Amino acid sequence: MRIAIASGKGGTGKTTVSLNLALSLEDAQLLDCDVEEPNCNLFLNHELEKVRDVGIQVPAISNDKCNLCKKCVDICRFNAFVKLPKSIMLFPKLCHGCGACSLVCPQGAIYEEIRKIGIIERSSSQTCGTELYQGLLNIGEPMASPIIRALKEHIDDTRTVIIDSPPGTACPVISAITGVDCCVLVTEPTPFGLHDLSLAVELVKEMKIPHGVIINRHDIGNDSVERYCLENNIPVLMKIPYEIKIAELYSEGIPFVLKMPHWKERFVDMFRQLQVLGGC
Ligand code: SF4
Ligand code: SF4
Repeated sequence: MRIAIASGKGGTGKTTVSLNLALSLEDAQLLDCDVEEPNCNLFLNHELEKVRDVGIQVPAISNDKCNLCKKCVDICRFNAFVKLPKSIMLFPKLCHGCGACSLVCPQGAIYEEIRKIGIIERSSSQTCGTELYQGLLNIGEPMASPIIRALKEHIDDTRTVIIDSPPGTACPVISAITGVDCCVLVTEPTPFGLHDLSLAVELVKEMKIPHGVIINRHDIGNDSVERYCLENNIPVLMKIPYEIKIAELYSEGIPFVLKMPHWKERFVDMFRQLQVLGGC
């Protein structure tokens, strides 16, 4: 079963939920898809080993063949080319690798080369049976989705797969949650939390992914998130309180189920709800 943990915005506790759910099961594979800033291993402290590099194909131009016809400039919807008086200049980091420019070039002046944008790593040890894979995007690289897709090629479907999605509702999130059986949306009971939750709900509805909500720090703020879930028939899977013991463990880098075993039972109960939700 594949379960994505997502949120409309950062800082809601998405990684906390991913870790504690994974560590409550016996066979989890945790994929940290927040590739710009993977932080699951800050709590697991596993030794990581590189699995492979990830690259994308980007065009390059043979200036001796180019006749400056400008067809590549006109076709590129990402404005990755600029025509200069005597050459065509490419801004590789704007390229999305669609391949259109090489198709339209009448001179065969465009060829493709691989540009490395990051790596995939995995843990060489396990905690409570949890195996970690993470993607790491190179600093300054704008495109997270190719790393996330490459990371998902390492999914082991004999395990329960927990995908810690990037925050937000943009392309990297879509890459992370595509193909999952269900999605847990983590939020907090504040006006900002509700606003960003509603965006995330629109996304998972559009993608037809069964979903439920976890309200983190549920005893701050107000009941607007709960009312929203009730009105929209979205199950509230769990409420995590704003509790000093949980906060202390977090500050020490310890997932709270490791020290508070009654929470492990709650996460296992929630997992059973997710199995029903995802039809697994
Ligand atoms: S491959 Fe696509 S995105 Fe990249 S430069 Fe060519 S047309 Fe633009
Ligand atoms: S399409 Fe080909 S020939 Fe035309 S400007 Fe671009 S690289 Fe040069």
